[in-house]
Amino acid sequence: MTSGEKLCLACGLCCDGTLFDIVRLGPDDEVKKLKALGLSVSLSRAQPPVAFFRQPCAALCADRKCRVYADRPVQCGDFECGVFKDAQAGRIKITSALRLVKQARRQADNIRRLLRELGDTEEQRSLRERFRRTQRRLESGNSDPAAGEIFAELSLAVHRFRLLAHEKFYTSDPEKTPGLDV
Ligand code: SF4
Ligand code: SF4
Repeated sequence: MTSGEKLCLACGLCCDGTLFDIVRLGPDDEVKKLKALGLSVSLSRAQPPVAFFRQPCAALCADRKCRVYADRPVQCGDFECGVFKDAQAGRIKITSALRLVKQARRQADNIRRLLRELGDTEEQRSLRERFRRTQRRLESGNSDPAAGEIFAELSLAVHRFRLLAHEKFYTSDPEKTPGLDV
């Protein structure tokens, strides 16, 4: 196993809805085949429509292997996060890369725990979507002070995670990529 494979199998953050909400499909992707392999491909409402599927990806196995690896979408094959690139280029040691992955996973797990405490148990949705839904729900209703305290902790945890993700993982800003009207 290469050090890159070892790193990704310890991570899975670019497939499990932690770093991204969706995977966009392009002209070189075989939509029919991906659907047959169990991915729920949808079309955006944008003009022209864009085919995509949501994360967490249905093809991500418990051991963080990709069940459709040989047929994975182009976007999946192309993506290498900053930590992966740095490790591959020898700018950081694999032990440091694994430490960063562990740190990010720990932070994401903490965010999921806080979301659950606030009543969001929709583990099949991306982290960003869950946070936004919880934020809307709490800001529109009369949340009790205890929930308000947990939400403050959650907001801080999300902020810290975003800083880490932007500094070490994202290679372009996902907030600034053209939006998908889904
Ligand atoms: S986020 Fe980076 S290290 Fe993690 S699985 Fe994706 S490419 Fe690999
Ligand atoms: S198809 Fe494979 S590589 Fe792409 S998001 Fe799903 S699990 Fe990850």
